[in-house]
Amino acid sequence: MNIYKRLGVKEMINAADSYTIIGGSLMPDEVIEAMSEAARAFVSIEELHDAVGKRLAELTRNEAAMVTGGAAAAMAIAAAACMAGADGELAGKLPCAEAGRNEILLYSCQNNGFVQAVRLTGAKVIELEDRNPDSDRQLREAITARTACLLYFVSTQFERYAPPLGDVISICRERGVPVIVDAAAQLPPVSNLWAYTEMGVDLVIFSGGKTLRGPQNTGLVVGRADLIAACRAHSSPRSSVGRPMKVSKESLVGLLAAVERYVGLDQEELSRQYEFAVETICAHARRLGLRAERLYPGPTGQSYPRAALYPDPSCGYTAESLQAELKSGEPAIWVGLSEDKAAILVNPLHLQDREIALVCDRLARLVG
Ligand SMILES: *Cc1c(COP(=O)(O)O)cnc(C)c1O
Repeated sequence: MNIYKRLGVKEMINAADSYTIIGGSLMPDEVIEAMSEAARAFVSIEELHDAVGKRLAELTRNEAAMVTGGAAAAMAIAAAACMAGADGELAGKLPCAEAGRNEILLYSCQNNGFVQAVRLTGAKVIELEDRNPDSDRQLREAITARTACLLYFVSTQFERYAPPLGDVISICRERGVPVIVDAAAQLPPVSNLWAYTEMGVDLVIFSGGKTLRGPQNTGLVVGRADLIAACRAHSSPRSSVGRPMKVSKESLVGLLAAVERYVGLDQEELSRQYEFAVETICAHARRLGLRAERLYPGPTGQSYPRAALYPDPSCGYTAESLQAELKSGEPAIWVGLSEDKAAILVNPLHLQDREIALVCDRLARLVG
């Protein structure tokens, strides 16, 4: 009997997304094996951070990199790094609202629940007005001696509302203000691991437990060597604001194994698998009399497709009730819902081959 059965906890099929509430993603065997190997000996955590960071920087074509305890932890640590640098004395003082540079700039439309993480340092978030004809001047005026950095989310959801990243980078560069990009879920394409830093972003954050399929509680920060060194100063094992966001030796090597695997994958083959899943489910839904279409790109602009299935009244379900019915079945199937609630959305990112047929069977039973 597997551990979840023994505990009486229901397993589910993830046709939704890399959601933390259902466990994010599944670690491939390479990752599990690396973690299990790492669990068998003591090492210096600082030395392991150095070695793993160096290798991650090479793999992601960046000057430097480090592992954090999740992308949200990376946001807090990167904020601390920009507020206090690698200065040992100031590092010890955070969280501190009076730290030298304690303001973080952010466009209003990009303010979401994850931003809470940067406030752990004592930083104040200063909201900038969304894109308008005066955006450049407003950004220049918002930058003061108290500005620690600007935090920017790259997502097609905000593209229309926030000034383009390229413009923001050039203004911040003029003033020596680091730009941090939250790209937690922005994979694929794999090239995003280096594309933002090539554009001039100072630090870029990815979730280790989403598309990368590393340990759930890991994040990856890539970018400028001096800022990564400062991030290390604000992280465990050092006494710092980041000390509660500890990364274990197992997680350190686990994320490295995940990134090694991910950059080595045949991306075209992976993309064919996503297309196959979406095409199979759309074709099946059409045979059941549902309207179905392929959506592209992914929810925040990633380069993968999804299937949108539109139940009509004759099948006895609305999209919402069909979503709920799939979730309450055995095994539970998690799917998304379109913003207008007209369609259920099937995301292929974490759907395993054998699960495609299970999703099709359940749909046939419910609406067939
Ligand atoms: C998921 C996500 C995070 C948090 O990532 P964790 O690795 O779960 O901490 C932060 N920002 C954005 C935009 C995300 O999608």
